[in-house]
Amino acid sequence: MSIRAKLAWTFILLLIFGITAISSYSILFIRNFLLSEGEKQIINDTRWLAITIQNLRSDEDFETNLNEIASASGYHLAIYDENGIIYAEVPYHETSVASRQLQSGLRDHFVRDGTLIVADHINDDQLVAYVLLQPIHNAAAYLKVSIRKELIYEPIKTIRWIIYTGMFISIGLVLLVSITFARSITLPILQLEKAARDISDGNTDQNLNLDRSDEIGTLAKSLNRMADRLRTDNLELKRLYQKQNQFFADITHEIRNPLHTIAGSLEMLKMNNLDEALKEKYILTAERQTQRINRLFKDLVTLQRFDSDDQFIQKESFDIQKIVTYVRETVEPEAHEKGLHLKADVDPYNVIGDPDKIEQVLENLLTNAIKFTSGGSIVINTREDNDNVIVEVTDTGIGISEEHLDRLFDRFYRTDKARSRDKGGTGLGLSVVKSILDAHGSTVHVESKQGKGSRFWFSLPKA
Ligand code: ADP
Repeated sequence: MSIRAKLAWTFILLLIFGITAISSYSILFIRNFLLSEGEKQIINDTRWLAITIQNLRSDEDFETNLNEIASASGYHLAIYDENGIIYAEVPYHETSVASRQLQSGLRDHFVRDGTLIVADHINDDQLVAYVLLQPIHNAAAYLKVSIRKELIYEPIKTIRWIIYTGMFISIGLVLLVSITFARSITLPILQLEKAARDISDGNTDQNLNLDRSDEIGTLAKSLNRMADRLRTDNLELKRLYQKQNQFFADITHEIRNPLHTIAGSLEMLKMNNLDEALKEKYILTAERQTQRINRLFKDLVTLQRFDSDDQFIQKESFDIQKIVTYVRETVEPEAHEKGLHLKADVDPYNVIGDPDKIEQVLENLLTNAIKFTSGGSIVINTREDNDNVIVEVTDTGIGISEEHLDRLFDRFYRTDKARSRDKGGTGLGLSVVKSILDAHGSTVHVESKQGKGSRFWFSLPKA
């Protein structure tokens, strides 16, 4: 059974139960009230009836007068003589011989105190009163006044009719109200149920618009928030999935290229009549490509560790000047080979960071600077900025146009793919720099002008 039907039935059953209980109690109460009023009435009436009947003359008008008294009072009257035998009865009933005589027990009772007796037993269908007469002009000795309880209860019929009519009208109204009310409660629940079903089916684009400030409104808002969250999570998952696919495609591509070159070099080396100079050239090419694959894997491991290892960075206090000097010496031959002037203007500062990782950052920035500069100079310098030390690498190279700057630190992003590969680049150098500095809570910045040169810088806190 639907919630709507359950609610409607609950209201109706509660109402029927309530009205039946109240009306039964009221009718019972009114019946008792009418009966006790009837008892008082019959006792009072019996007194004046006794006085009237005592004064009746025993002539031919006796019966007629008695009839008038009975019809005026609305009671059934029975008069008995001294011996308890029926003397007159109005209105007349064909009754058994036994009831035409007053019970002897009753007579004894009258003789003793002459009081009235009201017989009112639950099973009796009559209210009865007896009185001992002191007749003046007739032979009547006892008077029995009775009335059917049915007549006393007469007003209840009307009251019951009013109650039942009221009950049916109320049931009709309740039916109408409860159906409307149940509908107003269940309609939003059905909407919520549909929205929840849609969300579970993966349709998170809908937005439930229930303008309510009650619990249902709160539930709708929670459902909307849930759908929003799922929508964002789905988009993020899609984005990550695409990114991962792209990443694998890039790795495959990056490995396939040097492998092809190595395979080609080996093919050439297999030739018997290859002169020594060419042999040397192909061996060197194969070696360079192997180094490139090596570098690629090294960078990939760094990035993977950055993604998954909380212990990726081991911070300590170290002298930035020492690290810069060491890296400068490492890359010096490359710069020298290209006729570049490599200058370090660095003061001895103690900073906080992972010296090995900062060494890798500087090495990547310097090798890039050397790679993309064909003439001029490369300068590494440090300067203080409040509690931090800023490390800068400036070159007078080819520079980077504005449109590339946003994506420069993305994995495998290059401004010129062919040129980068030519120079043995993996396309991961700057993303490794970014990951390492992110893990330090620092940021790498770039400023560049095409044809003029570039400046990369980052800061580390002083120890
Ligand atoms: P790569 O292995 O290609 O050097 P990186 O991530 O280190 O990969 O650099 C990404 C790209 O950024 C390079 O391919 C190059 O186009 C550009 N780039 C990086 N450093 C410089 C620089 N100093 N001058 C000019 N372009 C640079």
